Amino acid sequence: MDCLFCAIVRGEIPSNKIYEDDVCYAFLDINPQAPVHALVVPKEHIPSANEVQEAQAATVAHIFTVLPTIARTLGLTNGYRIVSNVGEDGCQSVKHLHFHILGGKKLSEQMS
Ligand code: 5GP
Ligand code: ZN
Repeated sequence: MDCLFCAIVRGEIPSNKIYEDDVCYAFLDINPQAPVHALVVPKEHIPSANEVQEAQAATVAHIFTVLPTIARTLGLTNGYRIVSNVGEDGCQSVKHLHFHILGGKKLSEQMS
């Protein structure tokens, strides 16, 4: 399977790692849309938030338990935004579930 984020998780494509454990991998976005912009991905390939199976629920829950650690590592002491784009209308460009972590400034109140 030809998946960019699977290749990043395997280390075949270099990335700026923020955090890693058995379940997930976090790294800086190559094209930051905020002063701080990182991505958290499950190591397991899940196409999007629209395809999470019951057996993967613990994986997704785990990501949310480590998000505070990742945010702290990024210096996001005053809040941040978590975004997961889904499909065509959601402008998802990489078909491997990922959570954007955006912050480092007061973000726009507009979300679309
Ligand atoms: P999406 O548009 O699917 O929600 O988000 C994909 C994100 O992956 C984009 O913000 C894009 O900048 C980022 N991205 C795409 N290719 C690479 C890459 O090779 N390395 C890193 N670090 N980020 C990437
Ligand atoms: Zn993948």
